[in-house]
Amino acid sequence: MLLSLKSQLCAYCGAHEDQGHLLLRCPRARRIWRLIGWPQAACIDSFRDLWDIHDLALIPYAKVRSGIVTAVLWNIWKYRNDLVFNNVLVPAHVTLRAVATDLDLWRYRLRDPAAVTSLLSWVDYFCNIVTLL
Ligand SMILES: [Zn+2]
Repeated sequence: MLLSLKSQLCAYCGAHEDQGHLLLRCPRARRIWRLIGWPQAACIDSFRDLWDIHDLALIPYAKVRSGIVTAVLWNIWKYRNDLVFNNVLVPAHVTLRAVATDLDLWRYRLRDPAAVTSLLSWVDYFCNIVTLL
């Protein structure tokens, strides 16, 4: 489905597109959240609530938590733009692979070696999801 640049309709499903739809409630985003193992992400009303997802809340490093959430949201957004502007539909596993790659790079932002270890365990987690698809 190719939509006008001025369209306020979701390029994936044709529903009204806002941040909540695009990043959480769109069937495309829901698939990503389900694959990660966080289907509850598609049911929240506030992006702030993402940080309360059980698996994330258990991470003792705020920068790791925010890095993971940011990487997921960023890649959902980035590949939405690929569809809208380049007419390229990127499969979910590629999106998740990009999350793992971004997190692997973002480890250099961390100074605490324990936080790096925590982040790298999440890189492995995302890589394992991709290999299972
Ligand atoms: Zn949609």
